[in-house]
Amino acid sequence: MRMEQIGVIGLGNMGLGMAATLAAKGFTVTGFDINETRRAPAEAAGIRFTTTLADILSSADAIVCSLPLARDVEQVLTTDGDLLERRDRKVVVIDTSTSDPATTRRLAARLGAAGHALLDAPVSGGPSGAAQGTLTMMVGGAAEDFALAEPVLSALSAKAIHVGPSGAGNVAKLVNNMLVAAHLVAMGEAMRLSEAAGLSAQEAIAVVNTASGRSAVSEVMVPRWVLPNTFDSGFSAGLMRKDVRLALELAAETGVSLPLCAHAGEIWGATRTSIPDTADFTRMADYRAKDAA
Ligand code: NAD
Repeated sequence: MRMEQIGVIGLGNMGLGMAATLAAKGFTVTGFDINETRRAPAEAAGIRFTTTLADILSSADAIVCSLPLARDVEQVLTTDGDLLERRDRKVVVIDTSTSDPATTRRLAARLGAAGHALLDAPVSGGPSGAAQGTLTMMVGGAAEDFALAEPVLSALSAKAIHVGPSGAGNVAKLVNNMLVAAHLVAMGEAMRLSEAAGLSAQEAIAVVNTASGRSAVSEVMVPRWVLPNTFDSGFSAGLMRKDVRLALELAAETGVSLPLCAHAGEIWGATRTSIPDTADFTRMADYRAKDAA
């Protein structure tokens, strides 16, 4: 099946990089964002920018979404625009937003009934992975739709894992980000302890990274964004709070008790003043901050 015209909805930190990657790899890419300031960087990357959703929904072979919330995805596809009415071909929607599995499954069923498909395909790797086409994608949906979307998935990712049926990608991503959220809290505390006990955080992390306490937080995030005091990863504390909330809601829905992660969630909630939603999420591990949780 033809897979040439790709629509990208949401051209933020992640969506713009993904759209640019697809354009650089030969796809014809049309991008939509409610924020007009995304036009110039999109056009500079070879993406046709449109403010008319129908330009994408009526002609794209596949649609990549990169929006804050699951309900934003449902809104653009079924309320602001109407993919459900399209009849000329099956359109695969690749939703890379970090979303909740219940909303994904409901939307997947609605699109499926209209002859289309929704893959939940949340990503790990940040804006640099999006811009370089080296993301990890965790994909939920039918195997035949995963196969249909393969040219787009492989252009965007170093690894696209078909996790299971609809919603499974969202579950994997929420599990991943719940761990990162808790690791960041623990990492800030660990570095604060080290400094207080006379060993610099930098020296302690160098040791941890050769020992059993290491993680992506200690190996990637701390050296890149915390120790050099740059805090410019391109992922906001507000979006991480959303992910923690979704993970804890999933725990409540499934009746699982997560006392440690629930406490990490409380810490993320209680630090809104010192680490506002617009701040970089790695601020949570800022061991220099006096009023950290
Ligand atoms: P962002 O805030 O930078 O970008 C979101 C974009 O969506 C913005 O440009 C905004 O104007 C646009 N938008 C919002 N509502 C819209 C609508 N109704 N129609 C069209 N455009 C709309 O966010 P981001 O960091 O790019 O994250 C996007 C998604 O990817 C989120 O679900 C996030 O949790 C997830 N994610 C982000 C990262 C990261 O490192 N930034 C990594 C993995 C996953």
